[in-house]
Amino acid sequence: MEHGKNYAKELDKIIGRMEKAENGNAEPLPLNFSKTLPPGRRLLLHSCCAPCSSYVMEYLREYFDITVFYYNPNITEDGEYRKRVEEQKRLIEEYNRQTEEEHFTGMHSTVKARQIEIIEGDYEPDCFYAAAKNLEKCPEGGERCFRCYELRLRKTAELAAEKKFDCFTTTLTISPLKNAGKLNEIGEELEKEYGVFFLPSDFKKKNGYKRSIELSAQFGLYRQDYCGCIYSKREREEKGER
Ligand code: SF4
Repeated sequence: MEHGKNYAKELDKIIGRMEKAENGNAEPLPLNFSKTLPPGRRLLLHSCCAPCSSYVMEYLREYFDITVFYYNPNITEDGEYRKRVEEQKRLIEEYNRQTEEEHFTGMHSTVKARQIEIIEGDYEPDCFYAAAKNLEKCPEGGERCFRCYELRLRKTAELAAEKKFDCFTTTLTISPLKNAGKLNEIGEELEKEYGVFFLPSDFKKKNGYKRSIELSAQFGLYRQDYCGCIYSKREREEKGER
Protein backbone atom coordinates (compact mmCIF):
# COMPACT_ATOMS: atom_id res chain seq x y z
CA MET A 1 0.00 0.00 0.00
CA GLU A 2 1.12 3.53 -0.74
CA HIS A 3 1.97 5.51 2.38
CA GLY A 4 0.35 8.85 3.05
CA LYS A 5 3.75 10.56 3.10
CA ASN A 6 4.66 12.83 0.19
CA TYR A 7 8.13 11.56 -0.72
CA ALA A 8 8.51 14.05 -3.56
CA LYS A 9 8.20 16.90 -1.05
CA GLU A 10 10.62 15.16 1.32
CA LEU A 11 13.21 15.11 -1.46
CA ASP A 12 12.70 18.79 -2.23
CA LYS A 13 13.17 19.62 1.45
CA ILE A 14 16.43 17.66 1.56
CA ILE A 15 17.72 19.43 -1.55
CA GLY A 16 16.78 22.77 0.06
CA ARG A 17 18.71 21.81 3.20
CA MET A 18 21.72 20.75 1.12
CA GLU A 19 21.83 24.15 -0.55
CA LYS A 20 21.61 25.89 2.83
CA ALA A 21 24.34 23.66 4.30
CA GLU A 22 26.65 24.61 1.42
CA ASN A 23 26.06 28.26 2.22
CA GLY A 24 26.99 27.63 5.85
CA ASN A 25 23.39 27.53 7.16
CA ALA A 26 23.01 23.82 7.88
CA GLU A 27 19.56 22.78 9.10
CA PRO A 28 19.08 19.43 10.84
CA LEU A 29 17.01 16.76 9.13
CA PRO A 30 13.74 15.40 10.51
CA LEU A 31 14.03 12.54 13.00
CA ASN A 32 13.17 9.75 10.55
CA PHE A 33 16.64 9.96 8.98
CA SER A 34 19.52 7.95 10.35
CA LYS A 35 21.81 10.97 9.82
CA THR A 36 21.29 14.41 11.23
CA LEU A 37 22.65 16.51 8.37
CA PRO A 38 21.76 16.51 4.66
CA PRO A 39 24.02 14.45 2.39
CA GLY A 40 26.80 15.58 0.06
CA ARG A 41 26.36 15.51 -3.70
CA ARG A 42 27.81 12.16 -4.79
CA LEU A 43 24.76 10.11 -5.67
CA LEU A 44 24.57 6.46 -6.70
CA LEU A 45 21.35 6.23 -8.69
CA HIS A 46 19.97 2.78 -9.33
CA SER A 47 18.28 2.78 -12.74
CA CYS A 48 15.85 0.22 -14.11
CA CYS A 49 15.89 1.48 -17.71
CA ALA A 50 16.61 4.49 -19.92
CA PRO A 51 13.00 5.80 -20.17
CA CYS A 52 12.49 5.81 -16.38
CA SER A 53 15.88 7.40 -15.79
CA SER A 54 15.35 10.15 -18.39
CA TYR A 55 13.34 12.50 -16.16
CA VAL A 56 15.14 11.46 -12.96
CA MET A 57 18.55 12.35 -14.42
CA GLU A 58 17.22 15.59 -15.90
CA TYR A 59 15.88 16.60 -12.48
CA LEU A 60 18.71 15.41 -10.22
CA ARG A 61 21.71 16.40 -12.32
CA GLU A 62 21.14 20.02 -11.29
CA TYR A 63 21.93 19.07 -7.70
CA PHE A 64 24.00 15.89 -7.67
CA ASP A 65 27.06 14.27 -9.22
CA ILE A 66 25.27 11.23 -10.55
CA THR A 67 26.66 7.76 -11.08
CA VAL A 68 24.01 5.49 -12.55
CA PHE A 69 24.10 1.92 -11.31
CA TYR A 70 22.53 -0.44 -13.79
CA TYR A 71 21.73 -3.56 -11.80
CA ASN A 72 18.66 -5.44 -12.99
CA PRO A 73 18.89 -9.23 -12.62
CA ASN A 74 15.09 -9.27 -12.87
CA ILE A 75 15.32 -8.91 -16.67
CA THR A 76 15.30 -12.62 -17.18
CA GLU A 77 15.94 -12.70 -20.93
CA ASP A 78 19.46 -11.99 -22.04
CA GLY A 79 18.54 -10.20 -25.31
CA GLU A 80 16.13 -7.90 -23.53
CA TYR A 81 18.72 -7.15 -20.84
CA ARG A 82 21.32 -6.14 -23.45
CA LYS A 83 18.84 -3.97 -25.31
CA ARG A 84 17.93 -2.08 -22.13
CA VAL A 85 21.48 -1.61 -20.90
CA GLU A 86 22.68 -0.32 -24.27
CA GLU A 87 19.81 2.15 -24.37
CA GLN A 88 20.75 3.32 -20.88
CA LYS A 89 24.33 3.98 -21.99
CA ARG A 90 23.20 5.79 -25.13
CA LEU A 91 20.94 8.11 -23.13
CA ILE A 92 23.74 8.98 -20.69
CA GLU A 93 26.01 9.81 -23.63
CA GLU A 94 23.28 12.06 -25.06
CA TYR A 95 22.88 13.86 -21.74
CA ASN A 96 26.62 14.31 -21.32
CA ARG A 97 26.94 15.71 -24.84
CA GLN A 98 24.04 18.08 -24.13
CA THR A 99 25.59 19.25 -20.84
CA GLU A 100 28.91 19.96 -22.57
CA GLU A 101 27.25 21.94 -25.37
CA GLU A 102 25.11 23.95 -22.93
CA HIS A 103 28.10 24.64 -20.75
CA PHE A 104 30.15 25.97 -23.65
CA THR A 105 27.33 28.10 -25.02
CA GLY A 106 26.47 29.38 -21.51
CA MET A 107 22.91 28.06 -21.84
CA HIS A 108 22.81 26.00 -18.71
CA SER A 109 20.86 27.63 -15.90
CA THR A 110 23.14 26.74 -13.03
CA VAL A 111 26.32 25.35 -14.62
CA LYS A 112 25.95 22.76 -11.88
CA ALA A 113 24.92 19.99 -14.25
CA ARG A 114 27.86 17.65 -14.60
CA GLN A 115 28.82 14.58 -16.55
CA ILE A 116 26.95 11.42 -15.56
CA GLU A 117 28.90 8.22 -14.98
CA ILE A 118 27.62 4.66 -15.26
CA ILE A 119 28.51 1.44 -13.48
CA GLU A 120 27.06 -1.73 -14.95
CA GLY A 121 26.44 -4.31 -12.26
CA ASP A 122 26.76 -8.06 -12.78
CA TYR A 123 24.00 -9.66 -14.76
CA GLU A 124 22.85 -12.43 -12.43
CA PRO A 125 19.28 -13.59 -13.14
CA ASP A 126 19.81 -16.56 -10.79
CA CYS A 127 19.72 -14.10 -7.89
CA PHE A 128 16.36 -12.87 -9.10
CA TYR A 129 14.97 -16.40 -9.48
CA ALA A 130 16.11 -17.22 -5.94
CA ALA A 131 14.39 -14.08 -4.58
CA ALA A 132 11.19 -14.83 -6.53
CA LYS A 133 11.04 -18.51 -5.52
CA ASN A 134 7.50 -19.68 -4.68
CA LEU A 135 6.14 -16.29 -5.75
CA GLU A 136 6.15 -17.00 -9.48
CA LYS A 137 2.37 -16.73 -9.73
CA CYS A 138 2.13 -13.57 -7.67
CA PRO A 139 0.56 -10.76 -9.71
CA GLU A 140 2.67 -7.71 -10.54
CA GLY A 141 2.72 -5.29 -7.63
CA GLY A 142 2.68 -8.03 -4.95
CA GLU A 143 5.23 -9.72 -2.69
CA ARG A 144 7.46 -10.90 -5.58
CA CYS A 145 7.96 -7.29 -6.62
CA PHE A 146 8.83 -6.25 -3.06
CA ARG A 147 11.60 -8.85 -3.02
CA CYS A 148 12.72 -7.67 -6.44
CA TYR A 149 12.90 -4.05 -5.23
CA GLU A 150 14.90 -5.16 -2.19
CA LEU A 151 17.35 -7.21 -4.25
CA ARG A 152 18.18 -4.25 -6.48
CA LEU A 153 18.21 -1.63 -3.73
CA ARG A 154 20.37 -3.75 -1.42
CA LYS A 155 23.03 -4.13 -4.09
CA THR A 156 22.91 -0.37 -4.65
CA ALA A 157 23.26 0.41 -0.93
CA GLU A 158 26.13 -2.09 -0.66
CA LEU A 159 28.01 -0.49 -3.54
CA ALA A 160 27.26 3.03 -2.29
CA ALA A 161 28.80 2.11 1.09
CA GLU A 162 31.80 0.41 -0.50
CA LYS A 163 32.57 3.31 -2.85
CA LYS A 164 31.75 5.96 -0.25
CA PHE A 165 28.92 7.70 -2.08
CA ASP A 166 27.07 10.37 -0.08
CA CYS A 167 23.64 8.97 -0.92
CA PHE A 168 21.71 6.49 -3.04
CA THR A 169 18.25 6.15 -4.53
CA THR A 170 16.36 4.51 -7.40
CA THR A 171 14.44 5.54 -10.51
CA LEU A 172 11.79 2.90 -9.75
CA THR A 173 9.38 5.32 -8.04
CA ILE A 174 8.67 7.01 -11.37
CA SER A 175 6.51 4.12 -12.52
CA PRO A 176 2.79 4.32 -11.66
CA LEU A 177 2.94 0.49 -11.47
CA LYS A 178 5.48 0.50 -8.66
CA ASN A 179 4.72 0.90 -4.97
CA ALA A 180 6.55 4.09 -4.00
CA GLY A 181 5.69 3.68 -0.30
CA LYS A 182 7.26 0.23 -0.20
CA LEU A 183 10.33 1.35 -2.16
CA ASN A 184 10.93 4.20 0.28
CA GLU A 185 10.39 1.92 3.26
CA ILE A 186 13.02 -0.51 1.92
CA GLY A 187 15.39 2.38 1.17
CA GLU A 188 15.04 3.72 4.73
CA GLU A 189 15.83 0.27 6.19
CA LEU A 190 18.91 -0.08 3.99
CA GLU A 191 20.05 3.41 4.96
CA LYS A 192 20.19 2.25 8.59
CA GLU A 193 21.86 -1.04 7.68
CA TYR A 194 24.59 0.35 5.40
CA GLY A 195 24.98 3.84 6.87
CA VAL A 196 24.50 5.59 3.52
CA PHE A 197 21.86 8.27 3.13
CA PHE A 198 18.80 7.15 1.15
CA LEU A 199 17.14 9.91 -0.86
CA PRO A 200 13.36 9.52 -0.58
CA SER A 201 11.49 9.96 -3.84
CA ASP A 202 8.27 9.72 -5.73
CA PHE A 203 9.50 10.72 -9.16
CA LYS A 204 6.15 10.23 -10.90
CA LYS A 205 4.85 13.27 -9.01
CA LYS A 206 5.31 16.84 -10.26
CA ASN A 207 4.57 15.49 -13.78
CA GLY A 208 7.70 13.33 -13.63
CA TYR A 209 6.12 10.35 -15.35
CA LYS A 210 4.65 12.55 -18.07
CA ARG A 211 8.03 14.20 -18.61
CA SER A 212 9.70 10.77 -18.92
CA ILE A 213 7.34 9.95 -21.79
CA GLU A 214 8.18 13.23 -23.53
CA LEU A 215 11.92 12.66 -23.09
CA SER A 216 11.62 9.06 -24.31
CA ALA A 217 9.99 10.37 -27.49
CA GLN A 218 12.58 13.15 -27.85
CA PHE A 219 15.51 10.72 -27.64
CA GLY A 220 13.71 7.92 -29.50
CA LEU A 221 14.21 5.55 -26.56
CA TYR A 222 13.23 1.91 -26.62
CA ARG A 223 10.26 1.61 -24.22
CA GLN A 224 9.56 -1.97 -23.24
CA ASP A 225 5.92 -2.91 -22.67
CA TYR A 226 6.48 -5.15 -19.64
CA CYS A 227 8.32 -4.70 -16.37
CA GLY A 228 11.22 -7.10 -16.81
CA CYS A 229 10.84 -10.62 -15.46
CA ILE A 230 9.43 -13.54 -17.37
CA TYR A 231 6.38 -13.54 -15.08
CA SER A 232 5.52 -9.94 -15.92
CA LYS A 233 5.97 -10.73 -19.61
CA ARG A 234 3.53 -13.64 -19.34
CA GLU A 235 1.07 -11.50 -17.39
CA ARG A 236 1.19 -8.85 -20.10
CA GLU A 237 0.69 -11.47 -22.83
CA GLU A 238 -2.30 -12.93 -20.98
CA LYS A 239 -3.90 -9.54 -20.49
CA GLY A 240 -3.06 -8.28 -23.98
CA GLU A 241 -1.73 -4.74 -24.46
CA ARG A 242 -1.51 -2.54 -21.33
S1 SF4 B 1 7.05 -7.54 -12.20
FE1 SF4 B 1 8.84 -6.16 -12.24
S2 SF4 B 1 9.18 -5.53 -10.13
FE2 SF4 B 1 7.84 -7.32 -10.12
S3 SF4 B 1 9.21 -9.07 -9.89
FE3 SF4 B 1 8.91 -8.81 -12.07
S4 SF4 B 1 10.59 -7.47 -12.75
FE4 SF4 B 1 10.49 -7.32 -10.52
